Amino acid sequence: MSFTSEQISNLVRQVGITRDSELNCNECLHHVAEFAECELTGRQVTEALEAVRHHLTLCIECKEEYDELLKVLRALDDSSPAAS
Ligand SMILES: [Zn+2]
Repeated sequence: MSFTSEQISNLVRQVGITRDSELNCNECLHHVAEFAECELTGRQVTEALEAVRHHLTLCIECKEEYDELLKVLRALDDSSPAAS
């Protein structure tokens, strides 16, 4: 059984895509503030932020960071005067 180089590069690309969709903790924490902001403002999350959401369901450490961040952002929001 043999593969053409085209088949192999397709396979490599697929594996690469799968790996790219899994964030590591650094990447997650890099985007987590943006994600928290989207959650708080009800803004639609981008594909990159969906990956953050996914990571947060898998990684308790990042989830804790995220929860802390949400707490801080909510506190800031409460203390700012409503301008409506
Ligand atoms: Zn993580």
